[in-house]
Amino acid sequence: MATPPAPSSSLPPLSSTEQQPPLAPQQQQSSSSPLSPPSSILIIGSGVFGLTTAYALSRRHDFANTTITVVDRADPSNPDVFPAPDAASVDTSRIIRADYPDAAYAALAAEAQLQWRQQAHPDDLGSEGRYSESGLLLVADGPAPPPGTPVVTGTVIDKSKLTGMDYTRFSWANVLSIASSDPELAARIKECPDTDAIKAALGTGGSSGSWGYINGLSGWANAGASMAWLYKRVKAEGRINFVAGEVTNLEVSGDTVTGARLSDGRVLSADLVMVSAGAWTGRLVDLTGQAIATGQVLGYIDLTPEEEAQLAHMPVILNLSTGLFIIPPKNGVLKIARHAYGYLNPTTLSTPPLGSSVTAPATAVSLPLTTLSDPTLQIPTEGADDLRRALHEMVPLPSLRDRPFSKTRICWYSDTPTADFIIDYHPEYKGLFVATGDSGHAFKFLPVIGEKIADVIAGQCPSEFVGKWNWRYPAGDAAIKAVITEDGSRGGVPGLILSTELGRALN
Ligand SMILES: Cc1cc2nc3c(=O)[nH]c(=O)nc-3n(C[C@H](O)[C@H](O)[C@H](O)COP(=O)(O)OP(=O)(O)OC[C@H]3O[C@@H](n4cnc5c(N)ncnc54)[C@H](O)[C@@H]3O)c2cc1C
Repeated sequence: MATPPAPSSSLPPLSSTEQQPPLAPQQQQSSSSPLSPPSSILIIGSGVFGLTTAYALSRRHDFANTTITVVDRADPSNPDVFPAPDAASVDTSRIIRADYPDAAYAALAAEAQLQWRQQAHPDDLGSEGRYSESGLLLVADGPAPPPGTPVVTGTVIDKSKLTGMDYTRFSWANVLSIASSDPELAARIKECPDTDAIKAALGTGGSSGSWGYINGLSGWANAGASMAWLYKRVKAEGRINFVAGEVTNLEVSGDTVTGARLSDGRVLSADLVMVSAGAWTGRLVDLTGQAIATGQVLGYIDLTPEEEAQLAHMPVILNLSTGLFIIPPKNGVLKIARHAYGYLNPTTLSTPPLGSSVTAPATAVSLPLTTLSDPTLQIPTEGADDLRRALHEMVPLPSLRDRPFSKTRICWYSDTPTADFIIDYHPEYKGLFVATGDSGHAFKFLPVIGEKIADVIAGQCPSEFVGKWNWRYPAGDAAIKAVITEDGSRGGVPGLILSTELGRALN
């Protein structure tokens, strides 16, 4: 069986931006013309967006004279908790797939997969259990397409109108197109036209959805271990200052951001500040109408060695109508999760985020609530019941039916209306760049996203993402409405308030 081609080094070499044309002095507002590197850059947040950007910048000749500082709530001197254990980038697993209805994300993910598959040496990204190519069974509910219905690639899609079935079908078309140059690779993508075919592909005795396909070229990564791998490489560059601290607000002089203030009173100054604080970004920069923190439920179940062996060959399964998914077991643990509209956690801030007067007064912002601030935090019954439903449907081992979760977690997305990232200079403040809006799907891009963010910082947004990654002002009354992600991939109910749902759990 053919394996996809792999590039020669574990992370991309310096990108073509090394040969950028002469640079303009202004650091603000343009993402299409080259900009001069700042003398110092402060990156707030060391998740996938922040740490990969620091790494990419540290390897660019243009930024050789730029002082790069990364600040995070987590202490980098303790790699066991770096980045913070409640960061979205830290978990046992994240799906690695090019299965996107949007061809631009599909192509970028396929580029990243080349790096994930590298396993020849222990220090390759995909080695030491960091990446497993288990296959991904992508399914949806509803009427299955009639046999022989052609799939069309390259279509400009209106994401807001996609159903889970549409998302699945367009994804199928895109991954087939990517694999089309090699018949052996294309043969690893197989349609599952009905529930029997889905059941056979899943191999657990369970099933889900009415139509889908299995993509043997997709898999999953150990997210925490991959971040630790990345951090080690970043440290080895010796170019980045790491600071442990919690940013309380951005420092501003007139219309220019000059740095960040920490909770212990320290001020970190920089010519350019990049906020990549994940779902916490809305605490520092007003994202009203553009992005919102949504909490997603996860449950972990301990398995016996026999149960783990029984499920050893199952693929990842993701139902795009319900958002429910299960990752194959590893180290005796099965993970069940839901990619949903998620819970909102409206939080009143004493210091409003920067720019809140631009749209509407930001009185309450949805912000993450995690076990770091509330060690007793559980997932709401509504979410737990849904995870249990997924288990019964997708992995119906009788012994697991009523086994309690050994651990649960609420993990936070920074959700945008279209699930496009926000990677851009702030249009109102000089010296401020934002990289957020991960919308629950950014982890897979770990090997490539830093280079792309660095391109945008340098004023060269990849053409296929112009209009997708841009800062956008919300239209009309969207400014005062909560963002709802409508890209066809979400399950659950929009607008659930976490405290209300937790209250129900106590009744
Ligand atoms: C349940 C769940 C499942 C997911 N599944 C997948 C998947 O299968 N595949 C996939 O590709 N992606 C998946 N994702 C999405 C992926 O994990 C995220 O897109 C990605 O990790 C986001 O990275 P980030 O850098 O934006 O945010 P984060 O990783 O959250 O990093 C933000 C960092 O900012 C720091 N920070 C925040 N506020 C401050 C402050 N005030 N001062 C200092 N530091 C601060 C935090 O400590 C943190 O380290 C999933 C996410 C979740 C939650």
